[in-house]
Amino acid sequence: MPFGHDMVHSLATVVDLINTSPATGGPDRLTDLRELGEFVERHQVSGVGELCSSDLNQVRAAREAFHKVFTAPDQATAVIRLNTLLSETRITPRLTEHDGHPLHVHYFAPGASVGEHLSADLGVALAHLLVEGEWERLRTCSAPDCDNVFVDESRNRSRVYCDSRTCGNRMHVAAYRARRRA
Ligand SMILES: [Zn+2]
Ligand SMILES: [Zn+2]
Repeated sequence: MPFGHDMVHSLATVVDLINTSPATGGPDRLTDLRELGEFVERHQVSGVGELCSSDLNQVRAAREAFHKVFTAPDQATAVIRLNTLLSETRITPRLTEHDGHPLHVHYFAPGASVGEHLSADLGVALAHLLVEGEWERLRTCSAPDCDNVFVDESRNRSRVYCDSRTCGNRMHVAAYRARRRA
């Protein structure tokens, strides 16, 4: 499953967006315009002007809608939820090579707000992933105190922790201690 650079970027962005949500176990990390600005900066979301409170509300709503796609109990439900999200988003495919990136397609409509921008581009990326039969790769961390989402890019779809260095390592240490006690 070699993802193109564009897909990799979109998936990293949607994962980070969802994981700012308190629904994934940590504090809410998208509570004001400063945090939204940092998110936009971190993922180089292009063509974003002055941010306002309606942007924050829209992005927070998109975050919840994307989280529902990741946590769908089965592929059919993920498809329904993603279609709902896409149906509420204006989409205009357009080739671009802004900021020195190789030629790629943007899907957000001209003049779109940052919330619409994310819904369009990240929504289409997830749509392609589902079309490729890769729905199973949208995962939630298996550590008991962590509900971060991640995209399992391993060859045999065997990844269960959001981050092998943090959650994975913590769980391995716990398992080791449990074995020593036994
Ligand atoms: Zn771009
Ligand atoms: Zn985790």
